[in-house]
Amino acid sequence: MSQAPHQWSVVHTAQALAERQVSATELAQALLQRAQADTGSGAFLAFNEDATLAQAQRADQRLAQGERSPLLGVPLAHKDVFVTTDWPTTAGSKMLKGYRSPFDATVVQRLADQGAVTLGKTNCDEFAMGSANENSAYAVARNPWDTARVPGGSSGGSAVAVAARLVAGATGTDTGGSIRQPAAFCGITGIKPTYGRCSRFGMIAYASSLDQAGPMARSAEDCAVLLSAMAGPDPDRDSTSLDAPAQDFTQGLSAPRAGADAAKPLTGLRVGLPQEFFSGGNDDVLQRVREGLSQLEALGARLVDVSLPLTQLAIPAYYIIAPAEASSNLSRFDGVRYGHRAAEYSDLMDMYVRSRSEGFGPEVQRRILMGTYVLSHGYYDAYYLKAQRVRRLIAQDFQSAFAQCDVIAGPVAPSVAWPIGEKADDPVANYLADVYTLPASLSGLPGMSLPVGLGADGMPVGLQLIGNYLQEASLLHTAHQLQRVTDWHQQAPKGVAA
Ligand code: GLN
Repeated sequence: MSQAPHQWSVVHTAQALAERQVSATELAQALLQRAQADTGSGAFLAFNEDATLAQAQRADQRLAQGERSPLLGVPLAHKDVFVTTDWPTTAGSKMLKGYRSPFDATVVQRLADQGAVTLGKTNCDEFAMGSANENSAYAVARNPWDTARVPGGSSGGSAVAVAARLVAGATGTDTGGSIRQPAAFCGITGIKPTYGRCSRFGMIAYASSLDQAGPMARSAEDCAVLLSAMAGPDPDRDSTSLDAPAQDFTQGLSAPRAGADAAKPLTGLRVGLPQEFFSGGNDDVLQRVREGLSQLEALGARLVDVSLPLTQLAIPAYYIIAPAEASSNLSRFDGVRYGHRAAEYSDLMDMYVRSRSEGFGPEVQRRILMGTYVLSHGYYDAYYLKAQRVRRLIAQDFQSAFAQCDVIAGPVAPSVAWPIGEKADDPVANYLADVYTLPASLSGLPGMSLPVGLGADGMPVGLQLIGNYLQEASLLHTAHQLQRVTDWHQQAPKGVAA
């Protein structure tokens, strides 16, 4: 039986459009209808039917002129921290309710230039702070594998949209795990590139030295298509964007490694297993991860033991550095230039206080307080500076590990997705769930998550692959080879046809 268009991958969609099996406009209309009807999942925060259809019509014109490109006419969704002119951008916060940006984020612009069609903006934790999407000021996002559970965060809406087959691909951002963890929780594939690979221009800042954009889709192949369009230097608008030339990450995905044969395409690949990633997680997660690793071995990869001894320090270091940067970044929301302004106030200071107290939710306020505290005179050396030193040591540990291996593998998170509400009142419990994603974030390394089956209560488990700087191609190749011989990434939640 042939699949319905909403089940198509990014690659399949582009092909069907190029063959004119469906027009970009028909496709956009069908997907919009599905996504708009799906009110229960909380995946989307905004639609703009006119803007979507105008983009689709332009894509149809380009297709009619014979133009072919891997994203021409393909509908995608954007996490609501990427600013857009045609859709409101809220960062999941009341502070930015109804905000319209006068420009598009570079990542959004690049995808649009390739002909991608924006379906809408996806739900997220407020200012990307969270691990469960429960900090969104607007809607509860529900995991399609069990709607009583969280989808993960902070790019939860993007993960839900892809997993529920509302859209084939979406953008996300990852500061400490926000692409990898929701991808793992929702059974999809996502990659956080090397820090600086994708421009941060127009990405609402959380922690600038950590924030990175990346794609979320069902397969590594689709992620490769999306990343090829998203990545590349942006020297005039993001001074931290890397001077690494744009790359076609789909090149060589299906070929065996140099010197390997088709039967064992990963021969020669050394996969490092940090013992610290295999000691604290739940058994169901570790079991699935080990099964994924056995598959890599069957493809010719060699598993080697490595150590990342400071793994446990990643949480305290991150939860000092990220709030410190956030407290500075969020000072721009003062009720004066844009964003929420309190209706009543007595003087300027009162206006600031009331506007920020009303506009920011509890987790954002908590982080601003923590960040301001660790940056204040007398505590700066004790907390902030020390955390920066730990950060450097964590990055050095990775370099020692990469002397013995080509990629590092382990779980994405210690558990599967938890029930909505279970950790909602316990910020530290949420922070602890980030233990395996934070080390790569603090080090600026690329990391990805791909599904390796179902763990406790039938919830998806993700395998994390971490590469050395600019080694996204190697991660995507490894993941794609695994996905060629397994079908975990094709499994769909109950009630959603695969
Ligand atoms: N869970 C982490 C935090 O709350 C990571 C969030 C992110 O990557 N944006 O900060």
